[in-house]
Amino acid sequence: MKHTIPFRERSLVQAMISELRGLASRPVRLMEVCGTHTVSIFRHGLRSLLPPEIVLISGPGCPVCVTPAGEIDAFVSLAKRPGITVVTFGDLVRVPGSGGSLAEARARGARIEVVYSPIDALQIARQRPGDTVVFLGVGFETTAPTVAATMIEARRQNLGNFTLFAAHKTVPPALDGLLGDGEVALDGLICPGHVSTVLGASAYRPLVEKYRMPCVVAGFEPVDILAAILQLARQVIEGEARVMNAYPRAVRWGGNERARAVMDEVFEQADSEWRGLGTIPKSGLALRPEWADLDAVCRLDVAVQSAAEPEGCMCGEVLKGLVTPPDCPLFAHGCTPLAPVGPCMVSSEGTCAAHFRYGDRR
Ligand code: SF4
Repeated sequence: MKHTIPFRERSLVQAMISELRGLASRPVRLMEVCGTHTVSIFRHGLRSLLPPEIVLISGPGCPVCVTPAGEIDAFVSLAKRPGITVVTFGDLVRVPGSGGSLAEARARGARIEVVYSPIDALQIARQRPGDTVVFLGVGFETTAPTVAATMIEARRQNLGNFTLFAAHKTVPPALDGLLGDGEVALDGLICPGHVSTVLGASAYRPLVEKYRMPCVVAGFEPVDILAAILQLARQVIEGEARVMNAYPRAVRWGGNERARAVMDEVFEQADSEWRGLGTIPKSGLALRPEWADLDAVCRLDVAVQSAAEPEGCMCGEVLKGLVTPPDCPLFAHGCTPLAPVGPCMVSSEGTCAAHFRYGDRR
């Protein structure tokens, strides 16, 4: 694929690529953790510019993709109950569970609303006082503070029919699980920009100390991503392992303390199941006991059970970086963005969707 680097950035990009070509004396395997990075890399054709020694591997940083089938089933089953309105972000609606998707439930009459911000769910709760409104809290540290602020506002407004299904996940414990697992060989991590605005670049220091894994926080423009790749390649070739911040215009070393304080007021750490990665200790956010009255899982007696992944789907392996989407026999042959089989093809941040739209369709 041809690159689409903006004209004003081309000389800078060229300089970085030349340095990378000179540096890369051996294979350097880097994981871009975040789904937004994956899409940007594909959209701008960055892989086509890199020397062959620099290998980019897509990771588990798409929140919709890592939500396991059992949780999708619980969302669908809730939506089918009378007197319930489920409110969610858009991508989740089309993710198939073992018994269908939220979109299919909606076609059969379930009340499901798509919003751009969790605060919109409060408006829906006010408009439907006879329904219990369940907001599906799916996402990483990027969205968790806003959802926590929504909970605080719901309580302030005394909205008794608003509840949250807390299914947020946190990125550093998942990276710890992935690196500890050792299944995928990596030389460095391109760390997520959005998550890091909340956590700060310092969040990756334990990974550097435990695994000697170079970590560089990256923004989302082509030059941001290339700068992070260059910083990682320099570290790898020189045998160093440090946390670096290649996105200083948005990310601070200590992150956003206020956002974390709001999160801490509402959520506590909990073990969480990730699609493909299994259950990872302290990698999820559960509501604190003092929020039980707004907790959909307690209030509506929801059970989340394990469910089989779609037959033939390799999303689990894709999310771990063990295979690429074209390795999946269903890729483009039975699984496409219009008729997705797995979440990695549904989500706008999914690796399979990025490969299908911009990359290799073997
Ligand atoms: Fe799953 Fe489709 Fe990706 Fe295969 S191509 S791993 S079926 S989402």
